Amino acid sequence: MKPVAVSSRMRGDFPIFRDPEGRDNGLVYLDNGASAQKPQVVLDAVADFYATAYANIHRGVYRLSEEATRRYEGGRATVANFLNAGSAEQIVFTRGTTEAINLLAATFGQQRVGPGDEILITTLEHHSNIVPWQLLCERTGAQLKIVPIGDNGSLDLTAMGELLTERVKLLSVAHVSNALGTINPLREIIRLAHDCGVPVIVDGAQAIPHLAVDVQALDCDFYVFSGHKIYGPTGIGALYGKREHLEAMPPYQGGGDMIESVTFEKTTYAPVPTRFEAGTPNIAGVVGLAAALDYVSGIGFETIEQHGRELVEYGTRVLGEIPDLRIIGTAEPKVPVFSFVIDGIHPHDAGTILSESNVAIRAGHHCAQPLMDRLGLPATTRASLGLYNTTADLDALVEAVQNLRKFFGK
Ligand code: PLP
Repeated sequence: MKPVAVSSRMRGDFPIFRDPEGRDNGLVYLDNGASAQKPQVVLDAVADFYATAYANIHRGVYRLSEEATRRYEGGRATVANFLNAGSAEQIVFTRGTTEAINLLAATFGQQRVGPGDEILITTLEHHSNIVPWQLLCERTGAQLKIVPIGDNGSLDLTAMGELLTERVKLLSVAHVSNALGTINPLREIIRLAHDCGVPVIVDGAQAIPHLAVDVQALDCDFYVFSGHKIYGPTGIGALYGKREHLEAMPPYQGGGDMIESVTFEKTTYAPVPTRFEAGTPNIAGVVGLAAALDYVSGIGFETIEQHGRELVEYGTRVLGEIPDLRIIGTAEPKVPVFSFVIDGIHPHDAGTILSESNVAIRAGHHCAQPLMDRLGLPATTRASLGLYNTTADLDALVEAVQNLRKFFGK
């Protein structure tokens, strides 16, 4: 089967899957939604940067600093190309999705909302796309409104249309649900919101490793993601914004690099994107992220998306054949994420016992407690797959679940 061949080759690119002698160690890693493993090219890019080109950026007049700056700004261009942004200046580096959303709440959000205004999010959101907006509501007297979902995990767009009143000042929505894998119909959502004059922030944390993203075609106002979910380092992520928004936004944090000039009387700020990057940034993180994006681009999203669809189809079938197992979130289309519950077995017990079979999955509320409440579940067990996963990994999961059922006398 094609995806097995593609992924088996990819698996060899990731040292985590080898033992000290270089043999495959049999690890079945199905927690990519939490964080993905790193290919050798990313590790090499970071090591090479520290070994041959490391210095602080922007301020240096010597060769090393110029080279470090070239790699950092080259990384910005790589992210811009990856998202098909109009220009590199529309990319702001952050620590990740969480920081990007907090940045937007503290700047764009703070500017736009006041008492009586509304901020629209959905039932599907990760806590990172809930709590920053709650904090903003507390500061401004605005109200949070929630788009409901159907039982299968799909957004209720009719309800969304009704909620989009003139009080709504922004909509922030996940491209893909981390807990269920559902791909939201972004183009339709953005069109709906824009028809009502509402700007849209997209949380791309879970979409970025699975789907080709074209921010201009989507026409989103902002798109944010984390590097570690797309085979890059932790502590680095990016925020894309429309130029007119970025240019109108006040700074997020104050410090070095984000200024044009400073006196005790008055400080003026650097142009975008530097205005939003106070202090020494995660330079090596940017280098690693750029290497990860180049790696993914080298494989291509046609292959990655096809592989994902085949894994969704195969996983839905083989997991669906297990008695007492219920897949949570069946709305199509989805990325290869399988949240499930097994009658009589707590997800945490399932996770711990599956680990004995060298199968790494996640159990819990997946930082989406309001979604779990809506579904009437305390937690689920979640297998989330990446480009190195194969149908054989899903077979290993099924076998481990069958053993788990036997363990519980089923
Ligand atoms: N949004 C979604 C949909 C996520 O899945 C996650 C992480 O799992 C985040 C936001 C937060 O990402 P990070 O912890 O990298 O900032």
